[in-house]
Amino acid sequence: MWDALKCNFCGDCLVKCLYVDYDKDRAVSEIKLLMEGKKADILSQCITCCACREYCPTGADPYDLILRMQEKTGAFPISEDALAQFDSVFNIPSELIPGEPDKPVLSLCTMERMIPEGALDGQLFKGMAIVKGGDYFCLIGYVHVAKESPIEKNAQKFIDKMASLGRDIVFLHDDCYAMVHAKVKDYGITVPFKYMHLFEYLRNYLRDHQSGITKLNKKVAYQRPCASRYTPEKDVFLDEIFELIGVERPPRRYERETAFCCTGAIINVNRERAIEIQAKNIDDAIACGADAIITLCPMCDRVLRRPTTARGLKKIFITDLCRMALGEKPWPE
Ligand code: SF4
Ligand code: SF4
Repeated sequence: MWDALKCNFCGDCLVKCLYVDYDKDRAVSEIKLLMEGKKADILSQCITCCACREYCPTGADPYDLILRMQEKTGAFPISEDALAQFDSVFNIPSELIPGEPDKPVLSLCTMERMIPEGALDGQLFKGMAIVKGGDYFCLIGYVHVAKESPIEKNAQKFIDKMASLGRDIVFLHDDCYAMVHAKVKDYGITVPFKYMHLFEYLRNYLRDHQSGITKLNKKVAYQRPCASRYTPEKDVFLDEIFELIGVERPPRRYERETAFCCTGAIINVNRERAIEIQAKNIDDAIACGADAIITLCPMCDRVLRRPTTARGLKKIFITDLCRMALGEKPWPE
C-alpha cells in the first residue's frame, strides 16, 4: 500500500520504468502530482506492469499510488469492451476435483483454459485435488484494468473461500500467490492456511526425485509475470529448478528486475504498442542465445504463443519444462 512517508523522491520508480522515458526531475514531478491527487502523464502511459513496486528502494509502493489514481481519474485508456471481457472471467464455473487427502490442493483459479494442453499431466501433480473457477480467483488481475477497489472488496471472501478447503494449497497462478503472500497485508487480512507457490512445489518435487532427472543442457529465458513484482523473492526457486534440471539462464537485457511485461495487460488497449514490446522482448531472448523461453503465468503463455512462433523461438510452460527433464515429454522440435 502506498506510504507517502517512505517516499524520498529519488525518482527511481519512474526513471526505471521501461515504458516511459522520464529523467529524475520528470519522475519526481509526476510522483508529486499524484501525491497531490492530480492527474499526471504516467496514469495514461503506464501499462500496469507493477514493476515500479519492485523498483522503489524504500518500499513506498508507488504502483499502489498510480493504480488508485488511475481508478480515481479514469485516465487509463481501457475500453468498455475490454473491461466487459475481463469481468466475464469471473463467471467461469467453479469446481473442486477431489484428490488424495494427504496431498495439497492445486489451485488453478480461472487459468485452466490458458494452460497448454497436457502441461499438468504426468507424475508432478498426480493424486492432488484441483480447485478452479471464478470463486477461487483473487481478482488481483483487476490491476490490469486500472481498478483497485474490486480487489480490496473481494479479498476477505477469497481468503475465506480458500480456507474453506481445509488443506494446504499450491498456487499455480502468480496472481493468487501475490494476493495471499503480499497484497492481503494492505488490507490487514491474515491467511489461516498453509500455501506455497508453484515454483517452490516444483523445486521440492525435483529435489526429491533427482534420480529420475536427465539434465536438459539447454539455455532458457524466463518470462516474468507482472504479479511476481509483489513477490520477487521467490525467483531463487526458479534458479534452483534450473540447476536441478541442467538449464542455464543466460543473462539478457530484459530479465529479473528489468523484465518486460508479456503485454497481456495492454493488448486490448494499444495493440501496436503491445506488438512493439513483444518484439523487443523476444528478440532480446533470441539474442542472448536462449534455446527457448519459459512461461509461468498461463496468460503470458497464451499472449506469447503467436509472437514467439512467428519469430522462431520455442515457448515452453514451466511444468512442461520439468516434465521434459523427468523424461515425460521430448524437447520441442
Ligand atoms: S506499473 Fe509498470 S508501466 Fe506503470 S509506471 Fe510502474 S513500471 Fe511503469
Ligand atoms: S516512490 Fe519510491 S522510487 Fe518512487 S520516488 Fe518515492 S522513494 Fe523513490
